[in-house]
Amino acid sequence: MAFAELGLAPKLLEAVTAAGYTEPTAVQREAIPLALQGLDLLVSSQTGSGKTAAFMLPCLQRLLQAGPSRLPRVLVLTPTRELAQQVSRAAIDLAGRRGPRVAVLVGGAPYAMQLKQLRGPLDIVVATPGRLMDHLQRGKLDLSGIDTLVLDEADRMLDMGFIDDIEAVVARLPAARQTLLFSATLDGVVGKLAGRVTRAAQRIEIARTPEAAPKIEQRLLFADGHDHKLRLLDHLLSDAALKQAVVFTATKAGAEDLAGRLEDQGHAVEALHGDMNQGARNRALKALREGRARILVATDVAARGLDVPGISHVVNFDLPMQAEDYVHRIGRTGRAGRAGQAYTLAHHRERGKVKGIERFTGTAIPVATLPGLEPKARPERSEGSRKTGAVKWRSNKPGEGKAYGQYKAGNGGPRRSRPSW
Ligand code: AMP
Repeated sequence: MAFAELGLAPKLLEAVTAAGYTEPTAVQREAIPLALQGLDLLVSSQTGSGKTAAFMLPCLQRLLQAGPSRLPRVLVLTPTRELAQQVSRAAIDLAGRRGPRVAVLVGGAPYAMQLKQLRGPLDIVVATPGRLMDHLQRGKLDLSGIDTLVLDEADRMLDMGFIDDIEAVVARLPAARQTLLFSATLDGVVGKLAGRVTRAAQRIEIARTPEAAPKIEQRLLFADGHDHKLRLLDHLLSDAALKQAVVFTATKAGAEDLAGRLEDQGHAVEALHGDMNQGARNRALKALREGRARILVATDVAARGLDVPGISHVVNFDLPMQAEDYVHRIGRTGRAGRAGQAYTLAHHRERGKVKGIERFTGTAIPVATLPGLEPKARPERSEGSRKTGAVKWRSNKPGEGKAYGQYKAGNGGPRRSRPSW
C-alpha cells in the first residue's frame, strides 16, 4: 500500500517522501485512515514501528484543514522529555518549519522559555504530564481549544505514576475531542484508563511483523567481575563496525564514571542521566545525533524515545532493573529497519535476572564469549540458553581481539576523580 492511498493531503504526501518514507508501516496503514475519520483509537504498537508518524500525520492534516487558531488544537502527552522532543521534531520534520507552532513543555527545563511560548499562538503542545499540570495550575495555558489528544506510550506514563496528572489534564479538555492512545499493551490499567478517556474507540493491535521487529542480534557475555566487564566493553567499542553505541549503566554515578573513563581513553563520549539539567541532556543528544559523539553512556532515562539511526550497538554494561526495560534499551538500535547488535554483560550471580528477561521476552539470549576474554568461572547455562544451546561467538574480522589494551589508561582505571559506583 502506498501513502497516497491513506487519504493524506498532498502537502503531507510530499513531506513523507521528503522524509524518505517509501511506504507506510503496518501501524500507519491501520491507524491513519481511521484517525482521519475522526475516530478514537487504542493502538498497541512497539517502539520503532513508526507510531509517531501514525498519529502526527492525521493531527497535521486536521490542523491544515482547520486553519489558523490562537489556542492549541493538538495535545500530545509523553512519558519522558526525550520522547516529547522527538515527537516535536517529527511534527516539524513532517510539516516543515513554517508548519505548526509547537511548544514542548517538559520537566527539568527552565520555565522562562516555556512561558514565552505559551504567550504566543500555538498549534501543538507536546508535554510530560507533570510539567503540563504545573502550567495549568498557574493558569498559563488554555486547553479549551484542544480537538485531538494523543497519549503516547500510555503504559509507560502509568508505570511512572502519572495517572493522577493524566486524569487531571483530561478533565480540562473539551469532551468533544478525538483521543488517540498508543501503548505497548492495552490490557490492565492501560485498558481501564482507555475506557475512561476514549469514546467508542477502535482497537488496533499491530503484531510484531518483520518490519516492526527490528533486526537486533542479541548476545550475553558473562563476566567474572567489574574489571572483566570493562575489558569486554573495551573490546566491543574497538569494533570498527560499531558506528554509534549506547552503553547502559544501572546508576547515574556509574554512567558518569564510565563516561569519564571512556573519555580518558580517547573515545568521543557523552553521558546522559537524570541528574543532568535539560540543557546538558539536549547537548549530549545533539552531539550523538550529529555524529560528534560515538558513544552515549546512559541510565534508563534514555531507554525510551531515543531515536538515532546511527546507533549500531547497545551494550548493557549493567542489567536493567526491570525486564521490560531490556526491550526498550535494545530497541535503541535497529531503528527504521536497520540491523543492530545488543550485548548484555552479566555477572554469573545475575543469572536469575537474565532468566527473568528471557521469560519476559520469550526468547533466550545466546551466550557468547570474546576471544581472549572468556570468563574464568564457567557459568552454568541459563535455562533459556539451554533451549537454544550456548553460542560461542568469535569474530571473523581480522585484527579483532587485539584491540583490548590499546588504551594505556584503560586498565589502570580513571585518571581523574569521578563519583564511584
Ligand atoms: P517511531 O516508532 O515513531 O519511534 O519511529 C521509528 C523510526 O521509523 C523513526 O526513525 C521514523 O523516522 C521511522 N519511520 C517512521 N515511518 C516510517 C516509514 N513509513 N518508512 C520508513 N521509516 C519510517
